[in-house]
Amino acid sequence: MARNVAIIGSGNWGTCIAKICAKNALVSASLFNKEVRMWVFEETVDGQPLSGIINSRHENVKYLPGIALPDTLVATPDLPSLGEWADIFVFVLPHQFLLPACRTLRQQRAKFRSGAYAVSLIKGIHVEPAGGGGGGGGGGGGGLVLLSDLIRQQLEVDCAVLMGANLAPEVAQETFCEATVGSRDPSRARELKALFETNYFRIGTTSDEVGVELCGALKNVVATGAGFCDGLGYGDNTKAAIIRLGLMEMMKFMRTFYASKGVQDRTFFESCGIADLVTTCYGGRNRRLAEAFVKTGKPISQLEDELLNGQKLQGPQTAAEVYTGLQAADRLAEFPLMAAVHLICERRLAPEKFIDTLRNHPEHA
Ligand code: NAD
Ligand code: 13P
Repeated sequence: MARNVAIIGSGNWGTCIAKICAKNALVSASLFNKEVRMWVFEETVDGQPLSGIINSRHENVKYLPGIALPDTLVATPDLPSLGEWADIFVFVLPHQFLLPACRTLRQQRAKFRSGAYAVSLIKGIHVEPAGGGGGGGGGGGGGLVLLSDLIRQQLEVDCAVLMGANLAPEVAQETFCEATVGSRDPSRARELKALFETNYFRIGTTSDEVGVELCGALKNVVATGAGFCDGLGYGDNTKAAIIRLGLMEMMKFMRTFYASKGVQDRTFFESCGIADLVTTCYGGRNRRLAEAFVKTGKPISQLEDELLNGQKLQGPQTAAEVYTGLQAADRLAEFPLMAAVHLICERRLAPEKFIDTLRNHPEHA
């Protein structure tokens, strides 16, 4: 039977991926219901509810302006209604908003369709508050919980992941790129490939769900460091060093805390790995705001408000979460680049000291 697809999120990437899913659903009628629904965190734009604007103009004028959306993509502010409707939940919202969304959907758990599952496109990590109670229920080093595990535990459904070198404005323009689906279930990987793949958005698949997800989360921390490098006026050689040392720390982080979870080295060479690291260190929002942070001295939250028109950064918060996890595990010294990114965001370390961190990195010992 054709599956119902619900997009949980409608930001820059959320709307872009919703467009892809809705277009694919139109041509794969035997696989997917042609109506794709998208949850909108409701807000007023020019005096009208954003969900209403999307449904009448078929454009997300705030988060993906100028991109035509299929009229079979239906925006709704009613998150609970998607609980009983969806066969596939596509989670794609800034990671700071995931837990409240899961808690809302959880209330509909008894009405979920049989066989419903999730796929997370969210780049970030959850940190369990001291003493637990955050909703994650355990996980990797120092209270860190994978977002896919948070979804699994909150909703009692399985969760695959999709990550890749995918700056949303470029994907929305349909310029060629790749992405990686991580799923231990081969039939699900095939279904997700059918849901997401287009001739300009090619999907690779792997069973290494954890490796794919952590590549997506951690590269935003490194990209924030790349932005500091740009703000300080350093050049491409320095940025290449940040990318290399960042990748070494990402690999070490996964080997240290997730070795038993089947992380494979080849995942670092998929789109979710080195490719996403490169694109985000050159073209991403985290890089851009980190550069502005160094150049203007303004707080990151202020720059987010001033420059992103409602879009959200993941890098600084992920850096804080990773720092908390590393500190709890007493492993901070082994991850100086990621630790320094957090301390600089918090103004506990001068941006200029970032280069010393690179100079004295344990990779050079
Ligand atoms: P975004 O940065 O555009 O964020 C804006 C969205 O957050 C809007 O839909 C807004 O309504 C919503 N929002 C604001 N306050 C909220 C609240 N209290 N509760 C719920 N939602 C709220 O979002 P995005 O670009 O779609 O990113 C979502 C995820 O996808 C992130 O983890 C990001 O790292 C990842 N991602 C983004 C891109 C990209 O280029 N934008 C590419 C790949 C992956
Ligand atoms: P930014 O959030 O830094 O723009 O990165 C987007 C992304 O994840 C590209 O793959």
